[in-house]
Amino acid sequence: MTVTPGGTTHRKTLRWQNARVVAVRDETPRAKTFRLALPEPRVHVAGQYYVLRLTAPDGYTAQRSYSVASAPDETGEIELTVEKLDDGEVSEFLHDVVQPGDELEVRGPIGGFFAWAGDTPALLVGGGSGVVPLMAMLREGRRSGRRDLVRLLVSARTPADLYYADELPGPETTVVWTREAPPGTTRPVGRLTVDDVAPLVTGDQVVYVCGSPAFADAATAVLEQAGVPVGAIRVERFGPSG
Ligand SMILES: Cc1cc2nc3c(=O)[nH]c(=O)nc-3n(C[C@H](O)[C@H](O)[C@H](O)COP(=O)(O)OP(=O)(O)OC[C@H]3O[C@@H](n4cnc5c(N)ncnc54)[C@H](O)[C@@H]3O)c2cc1C
Repeated sequence: MTVTPGGTTHRKTLRWQNARVVAVRDETPRAKTFRLALPEPRVHVAGQYYVLRLTAPDGYTAQRSYSVASAPDETGEIELTVEKLDDGEVSEFLHDVVQPGDELEVRGPIGGFFAWAGDTPALLVGGGSGVVPLMAMLREGRRSGRRDLVRLLVSARTPADLYYADELPGPETTVVWTREAPPGTTRPVGRLTVDDVAPLVTGDQVVYVCGSPAFADAATAVLEQAGVPVGAIRVERFGPSG
């Protein structure tokens, strides 16, 4: 069973359904967004994820979790953004084989702790593909006219690695470049520091941190140095998942 942030339990969210891939687009050379039409639509909360299951002709199955990148809406469609990992069983298949018109088995939306209902101040800190659920939150803040509630800090290696590069920039977003920065950037390239985080902390935010386990731990340490109480920090780690 899945418990929503409101505390309601939905058995229906556990049912598998065959989503149709309606569009595939490149976000970066190693990340693609898949737009899926759900036969049994459910409005998600920003930050929630779906489990995707692939089944081989011999019955072998592989399941992985993917956060919803799109804002909650009534369209019956969701977007998942997937990073292609070297030798990644599921992510390579999605990148190399899946095309519009295909069907993918999914189950969700799932997750209550790492979810933002859109009505409280939120500081979002993401690295790499960890920006995906945070993008749903940013989009939700913009869609509902509450962008004042959201601050997004993204750590990206180079401009080519930045997800949602056309849409992400705005007064409520900051990008920290760790290896190569666009021309004109004044901050020296390098990992996230307390100086990047401190100006964004207001004291009344819930902080959502998402990325690899290493990124999540480093970002959490920096947030604590900036004075954020550990109880205000919610972390989602994109490690190997079932
Ligand atoms: C709640 C949740 C939400 C997630 N949302 C997203 C998302 O929105 N977009 C996305 O791209 N991924 C997301 N992930 C990660 C995703 O579930 C898979 O772990 C990832 O796609 C790798 O699966 P794979 O089958 O391609 O690789 P595997 O065949 O499982 O692994 C291949 C190799 O990569 C390593 N590896 C596995 N996963 C990762 C990882 N995430 N980072 C680095 N190395 C890894 C393995 O140890 C192995 O060496 C999420 C994970 C969780 C738990």
